[in-house]
Amino acid sequence: MLTAQIKRLKLKDTWTISRSSDDFKDNVFIRLEKDGVTGIGEAAPNFRYGENAELTIKRVEQVRPILEKTDWRNFGDVKSALDEAITDQSCAKCGIDSAIMDWIGKKYKVPYFRLIGANPAATPKTSYSIGIDSVENMQRKIREAEPYPILKIKLGKDNDEEIMNAVREVTDKTVRVDANEGWKDRQLAAEKIQWLKTLGVEFVEQPMPADQLDDMIWLKERSALPLVADESVKNASDILKLAGAFHGINIKLMKSGGPQEGLRMIAMARALDLKIMLGCMIESSLAITTAAQLSPYVDWADLDGNLLISNDPYRGMTVQDGKMNLPEGPGLGVSDK
Ligand code: MG
Repeated sequence: MLTAQIKRLKLKDTWTISRSSDDFKDNVFIRLEKDGVTGIGEAAPNFRYGENAELTIKRVEQVRPILEKTDWRNFGDVKSALDEAITDQSCAKCGIDSAIMDWIGKKYKVPYFRLIGANPAATPKTSYSIGIDSVENMQRKIREAEPYPILKIKLGKDNDEEIMNAVREVTDKTVRVDANEGWKDRQLAAEKIQWLKTLGVEFVEQPMPADQLDDMIWLKERSALPLVADESVKNASDILKLAGAFHGINIKLMKSGGPQEGLRMIAMARALDLKIMLGCMIESSLAITTAAQLSPYVDWADLDGNLLISNDPYRGMTVQDGKMNLPEGPGLGVSDK
């Protein structure tokens, strides 16, 4: 049995990045049931890639016949069938693939991280993201983020300097910067990165637009800090062409199409000697915990989407001093709140 329903996740603070501003997020929650076992998964549509909750539900409904006739124990086959059937709304595939991984783990009574051989003691610390806001509000959010040792700061509008000065006024924590494609000129980007290095920034995510790959190759040769691709990468097939333009990639399961593709991306990035970050959208603890299961295999984590919402329907991975603790339960280990 398959069901998919939209739930509205409310944001604690209006969430602003260089291209958008939101007060809530409509995500799709998927349940798959067979042999008395229920698997659950979440799809978080991303407008940048032409996704929305209604279309996501439509895609889930379209693959109902595939899910009815396949043996989920052969989950690689299910993935191949979904990859062929769904060519947009990658988040729909992610929600289904996550639900199948949850189902498999529950069926065999093992946590998903055991199925993929990931060492639960090796999870990285997650950063906590501070969205773009007034300087006063950003400083308040930084104070509220006291339990998190690493901050991610969104830049890329016209007040980068004002923001970074305000950040450094209130904290000396490790800071990562995400420009969300906000810098269009490569010379300017190089100067900004040089300046950010003097402020103790660890790395910069997606400094320039995804369609300016030649500028990124130029920038990588001169960059004072590691550069991490986000908007430039969706799934494993994108990674090869990015190896000369970035030092690392940000894997988001919603863009990749699910945890199985996430693992392929990890293997591909490692083979190309790229650093790996695991990121997220605005998501509940269900999708965040799904990503966290893969995190022992990556260098950096930015899995904080659930911390930014006020009505999280689920309980899963917990965070202590930034360190992520995976739940011991079978499958994804996520339960209703
Ligand atoms: Mg990003």
